[in-house]
Amino acid sequence: MTDFTMTKDADGVATITWDVKSKSMNVMSTEAFAALSGLVDEALADASVKGIIITSGKKDFAGGMDLNVIAKMRAGGAQAIFDGVMQMHHVLRKIERAGMDPKTLKGAKPIVAALPGTALGIGLELPLACHRIIAADNPKAKIGLPEIMVGIFPGAGGTTRLSRKLGAMMAAPFLLEGKLSDPKSAKGAGLIDEVVAAEDLLKRAKEWVLSATEADLVKPWDAKGYKLPGGAPYSAPGFPTFVGASAMVHGKTMGVYPAARALLAAVYEGALVPFDTALRIEARHFTSVLMNPSSSAMIRSLFINKEALEKGANRPKVADQAVKKLGVIGAGMMGAGIAYVSANAGIEVVLIDSTQEAADRGKAHSSDLLDKGMKRGKVTAEKKAEVLGRITATTDYAALAGVDLVVEAVFEDPKVKADVTHKVEAATGADCIYATNTSTLPITGLAAASKRPDEFIGIHFFSPVDKMKLVEIIRGKKTGDVAVAKALDFVRQIRKTPIVVNDARFFYANRCIIPYINEGIRMVAEGVEPALVENAAKLVGMPLGPLQLVDETSIDLGVKIAKATKAAMGDDYPDEAVDHVLFWMADQGRLGKKANAGFYAYSDKGERLGLWEELEHKYPQDKMQPSLADVQHRLLFAQVLEAVRALEEGVLTDIREGDVGAILGWGFAPWSGGPFSWLDIIGAGRAVEICRGLSAQFGPRFHAPALLREMAEKGETFYGRFGGEKAAA
Ligand code: NAD
Repeated sequence: MTDFTMTKDADGVATITWDVKSKSMNVMSTEAFAALSGLVDEALADASVKGIIITSGKKDFAGGMDLNVIAKMRAGGAQAIFDGVMQMHHVLRKIERAGMDPKTLKGAKPIVAALPGTALGIGLELPLACHRIIAADNPKAKIGLPEIMVGIFPGAGGTTRLSRKLGAMMAAPFLLEGKLSDPKSAKGAGLIDEVVAAEDLLKRAKEWVLSATEADLVKPWDAKGYKLPGGAPYSAPGFPTFVGASAMVHGKTMGVYPAARALLAAVYEGALVPFDTALRIEARHFTSVLMNPSSSAMIRSLFINKEALEKGANRPKVADQAVKKLGVIGAGMMGAGIAYVSANAGIEVVLIDSTQEAADRGKAHSSDLLDKGMKRGKVTAEKKAEVLGRITATTDYAALAGVDLVVEAVFEDPKVKADVTHKVEAATGADCIYATNTSTLPITGLAAASKRPDEFIGIHFFSPVDKMKLVEIIRGKKTGDVAVAKALDFVRQIRKTPIVVNDARFFYANRCIIPYINEGIRMVAEGVEPALVENAAKLVGMPLGPLQLVDETSIDLGVKIAKATKAAMGDDYPDEAVDHVLFWMADQGRLGKKANAGFYAYSDKGERLGLWEELEHKYPQDKMQPSLADVQHRLLFAQVLEAVRALEEGVLTDIREGDVGAILGWGFAPWSGGPFSWLDIIGAGRAVEICRGLSAQFGPRFHAPALLREMAEKGETFYGRFGGEKAAA
């Protein structure tokens, strides 16, 4: 069964319908592209065909290129990628020209794209090559070019066509930020040409085909005297756009994302030459981006493996466990957020706190978030009422009757948590799964308070709950498969990404973040300039430097964690030097952003002003500062070695979760694809060599774990050794 089929009607209009039968959303494959090309040839050669409609047999037009295909294209090498991309350009150019005589610009057959719904990536690049784009008025549809989000850029002419259609400035949000729009906004921005009622889509497309004039079929860039909207790069109005875009891209990406830079180069260089040469330039930059290990690592983690985890790659094979009614105990910052995302996903929620006032305050959080959504036009008054109607705020545990999952988010105190476990178990049925949102307390220990430890699990959300995409699910020693499936099905309902890890101090994410923060603080104690620490982190792609991060999460929380860790580890505790700084900061009342005072200074309104200058007096800076690379190695290895240890110890059982969890959980340099992908990029041998240098200079925390040393000796990669079929790409 081919993905494209063609019918011809009595009025001479051919309709090419895209419908990938094996998938709910159309995605483009190499074979499908060839089939489309064949049908276009046939229609153009058929004298009885006056024009062509390209549409979809599904509710949406297309989700984009099959990224698995892109991942495999790399295997063929640069020349094969370039040739493949040029072939795609050839087909889309054929559609754009549609039989036109290049000299007279006459004789083309009209080709219209009729989009019933979402059109992303190649799903918009193909329409951009057509003569007109008509979309159904479907406010849920998303139209745009999101490629930059997974480390590539629109490489099937989208970059060149959109920048020529809108001008570099207006195209920038769609190309550089992957901005998606609903059909009406897309029309407003000039991305598409027309929006019509869904039921009129094909009728209107046909009408247009039959009434199009010769002039409608000549793209501006094929017409004589074409000028780039907004001005060419060397013109007075165009020049500042490119300078500004270049500065913006560098400011946002810190130069670590090859795709953003290559995209900008393709637009700039393309704007200097004729259209067909611009397509070759786009293909050359696209090839270089696909050959860059960063892009394949990003595609693998942020698209292929993220989706695999969301679809339940590691879900035990038990019956569907979708949550019907949820209990949330503790209506503070986390509980309120969990109640909101759940009610928003259509789940009934009972939100309990120790006082009615606290429970109501928790529910008010949902109301505030929905109000914000209403202000942005994303939420209707009915939707707000519906979501709030699903949340019952109470102090009465009897309201838990009939819940099938409880998430506890009370104070981080084992005694308080044990008491809540007893109360919940007395009020719920034998099949109710009990989850704790603890961030530091081992699950197995907390499960000791439960009569049903096989139904006891950790579901660790990140703050703020409505924004953070990752949820870490923790299996205690006695946690059973049904509890794991329940947690995974719940996370799927609320449309977040899960990882499943085994129980250990700090689980996975916090285990890796804490050493990152600590390494930054340790450097301050050693006399490294705080600005060097922060900038080194950002220049390697971390969204926040370690000092800003601890300011955000709060310094008193850091003190609390340090004390608890020291109590648990005794003489083995390695972080005295860190505590020196941390405890002193806390003593100064500099508790972080919430106190408007931390490693950074803040204005009265809470705006971050700059690093706190007094720090320098307490911890004088060395005249000889380390190199940028040395600081970056310390910050990165503090995290990735912890990830390797988590794998070695069986806390992580799947490196895909290690990579996806790191990027979504704490923003580990997304360009790298995650800690394991990064180690694969630099190679285990080089990693061990760096560890040798770091441990000689800074101590045993940088010793290469045995696993890494063994892999270096054998010349192995993580994805080669642990990826197998499931993780390979
Ligand atoms: P919080 O102090 O904002 O909220 C805790 C809430 O629990 C309060 O409203 C309190 O009144 C309520 N509570 C206390 N004892 C109770 C009881 N016996 N019965 C009912 N309600 C009770 O705390 P938080 O930041 O929301 O953290 C809650 C849990 O989530 C903790 O275990 C914490 O470690 C964990 N966590 C926090 C974060 C974070 O960033 N804050 C992130 C992940 C996990």
